[in-house]
Order: sequence, then C-alpha cells, then structure tokens
Amino acid sequence: MAYKIEDMNHPVYCLYCGDEIPIGRPDKKFCCKDCKNRWHNRKKYQHRGVMEQRVLRILERNHGILDKLLRLGVNSLDRLTLVGLGYNPEYVTSYRKSGVHHQYACFDIHYEQTPTRIKKIVRTTLESDADEE
Ligand SMILES: [Zn+2]
Repeated sequence: MAYKIEDMNHPVYCLYCGDEIPIGRPDKKFCCKDCKNRWHNRKKYQHRGVMEQRVLRILERNHGILDKLLRLGVNSLDRLTLVGLGYNPEYVTSYRKSGVHHQYACFDIHYEQTPTRIKKIVRTTLESDADEE
C-alpha cells in the first residue's frame, strides 16, 4: 500500500467544520458527506445574498432619485433625463397595467411610465394604496 507523502506530513482540514480529514478519504476537502453538503448550501445562500444586495442597492438609488424629484416638486420627467440621473428603469418593486397605463412603484413611490416619460410620480402610504385612480 502506498501513501502520498503529503497525506502523511500535512493533515488536511475539513472546509466546513475544520476537523482533520481522515487519511484515505478520496475527497480531501471535507471530513464527511454532511459537511460537504452544508458547505455547498452555505455557498449557495452567500451567492444569493450578494445578488440581493446588488438589487437592493439599485432600488435604493432609484428611490433616492424619485424622492429627490418629489422634494423638488417634479412629478413628470422624460426617461432620458431620469436615466442620466442614474435611475435604472429595469428595477421596480411593483408593476401593474391599468387600462392603457403602465403603473410602477419603487417602494412607496408610484409612477406611470410611457415609452418616453415617467409621470404622475406620487408617494403613497399604505392607507392610500387602495384608492388610487
Ligand atoms: Zn467536516
């Protein structure tokens, strides 16, 4: 029977639990199947967390821009100008088609969008959500 020198001299530790991996295990990253599964699950959730953070950052920037417009008394703006301000129209928190109107929201700020403009920018509260036109 032959051992690799490195197996003898350098104990290898499980990536998940840190236990020493028994010599002879063909998979030299984990001490057992459970640790391998847990490690891959954790990686998957970490990746999802990164995606969530990215989407939230974009939504928060969008909301900040809409919020600033409302404070300036602007409730209609052409899309090019809006995009120029850093707004990303691909990210919204809700969408609803009402007749010919396309209604979007970024958290509590709602607006309608045409191919060239966003208009009727308005902040809603939970109570007034129900009685939109
Ligand atoms: Zn382990």
